[in-house]
Amino acid sequence: MSASRDLRGHRADRHGTGRTAGLLRGVGGAKSVGFNFEELEGANETREAIEPGLVRRFWRMMFERLDMGSTSRVREADRLLGYLADVQAGQKEQWENFLHDPIPTVGTSGDVVVLSPELLGLPDARYDDFVVGNILAESLSSIVLRASETAYVREFFHGVARCREECEFYMFCQGGQASNKYFEHGDFGATETRYCRNSKIELVRALGEKMGV
Ligand code: SF4
Repeated sequence: MSASRDLRGHRADRHGTGRTAGLLRGVGGAKSVGFNFEELEGANETREAIEPGLVRRFWRMMFERLDMGSTSRVREADRLLGYLADVQAGQKEQWENFLHDPIPTVGTSGDVVVLSPELLGLPDARYDDFVVGNILAESLSSIVLRASETAYVREFFHGVARCREECEFYMFCQGGQASNKYFEHGDFGATETRYCRNSKIELVRALGEKMGV
């Protein structure tokens, strides 16, 4: 489900609650829900960015509805509240020592890409089309083990290290997604993206606003 359409409509909502509340009511029968905002990815190159204030207001409405007793689980809220619960319980180290899932993805030819399934089948000579091996020639575990030596994986972890140094949201976010960095910046070593602004930064700010911190 994409929330951005409703966020754009939200600009015209004088009271600032109707459409977002309606969206969340509309999923009231679901046991759990996750919200993916429009991302610049693959063929989706032209979507306009959503104003951060609107994204924050959407998340704030979501927290308010959960507070009011909505029984739907919301993926983003579960993750953030889980993170805060771990920090409060003195278990921050599991976030400090977080291991990235290599997300190996195998194409019909046997070619393997890692980090983001969106990279499969994408031509880019700079990165050898993101292919790190082929399961017809080598075991998947061996391919994954040496994936960290490939240029785009090294570049991605360089970006994650920059995120750790520069971003106050790093511990919760863990450095974002490779595909968003590539599609938005053409560079895996980038830091901030629309994805992380919408799905991490504004989520945290919305909860902070609601709690008055
Ligand atoms: S929120 Fe953005 S800039 Fe911050 S750690 Fe995540 S990806 Fe990096």
